[in-house]
Amino acid sequence: MLTIREELPEEFLQAYPAELKSLLGGPTLIHLPGEQARPLFVSILLHGNEITGLLAVQTLLARYQSLLLPRAISIFVGNVEAARVGKRLLPGQRDYNRIWINASGAEHEMTHTVLEAMRERDVFACIDIHNNTGKNPYYAIIAEPGSDHLGCAALFSDTVVYARCPDTTCTVAFSGMCPSVTLEAGLPGDPAGVERTVSFLETCLHTPDFTSRPLHPVNLFHTVAVVKVRDCCSYGFLGEDVDLQLVNEIDQYNFHELEPGTSLARVRNGDQQCLDVQNADGRQVYREYFTVVGDNLQAAKPVMPAMLTTNRDIISLDCLCYLMERLPQSELGNQRI
Ligand SMILES: [Zn+2]
Repeated sequence: MLTIREELPEEFLQAYPAELKSLLGGPTLIHLPGEQARPLFVSILLHGNEITGLLAVQTLLARYQSLLLPRAISIFVGNVEAARVGKRLLPGQRDYNRIWINASGAEHEMTHTVLEAMRERDVFACIDIHNNTGKNPYYAIIAEPGSDHLGCAALFSDTVVYARCPDTTCTVAFSGMCPSVTLEAGLPGDPAGVERTVSFLETCLHTPDFTSRPLHPVNLFHTVAVVKVRDCCSYGFLGEDVDLQLVNEIDQYNFHELEPGTSLARVRNGDQQCLDVQNADGRQVYREYFTVVGDNLQAAKPVMPAMLTTNRDIISLDCLCYLMERLPQSELGNQRI
């Protein structure tokens, strides 16, 4: 299902996300040469509606149309089927950012081929570009504690999250090979997010490594749990006829440390545990982070959510949110995540 090309299709730089399927046929790895031979691997559209990566790569490559790139670049264009209709993924498809693990099946074999191709080329760094749906700062995610990973991430944002869960992502798969970073570049197509991504990629193409420049202080967090709504619970927002009524604009809480007692939702049937809250060991930790007072679901301890969204599809396809705690840089790599 993967096509590998050694040149950019002519229409690529102007193509809309919906046109990539007919232009490329399917998921495609495009190798372009540069002055430095070790390629920067850039992954875009693993989620078909997250278009910032495509816009950023188009802007970047347009600058080098008649020039040799400072460094070779290998672009992986992921779920073009879903991009055709502006969806994260199509019904019946695997999530393209949950297939980067040793397993059988066409999608897994595709990721093995991509990883092998990049290993052979001695990949310089891996940048996987995403968007989210709620109010979040621009931030980067790393899966390894090395200073080159953190140094690369810090070039994009001073908000960095260290997370190895889920372990099926592109960033985790590359993290044993090279500095590997997920960019969360705000809402899909947000012009400021595109601009920031372009200048980050430009810096990556020019830098000899990610450890030689002084690292400015970063706000580093690590994920401590993932929160999902249990299938047995209906959910929606305040005033709706559902078991779990989330507060309106719940995404305002992203990257804000919540005080104990902060209300997140009204629950219809008391403390029936609508939420599945798992830590890195897969242990249920609902009681540690949440409590119900009256019919209010509240934070039980200081905690910081990320990726809270008001988009119901994302809540059912992915999760309600991640819970994070602040991590001193000196402790990076010393804890279970
Ligand atoms: Zn995504």
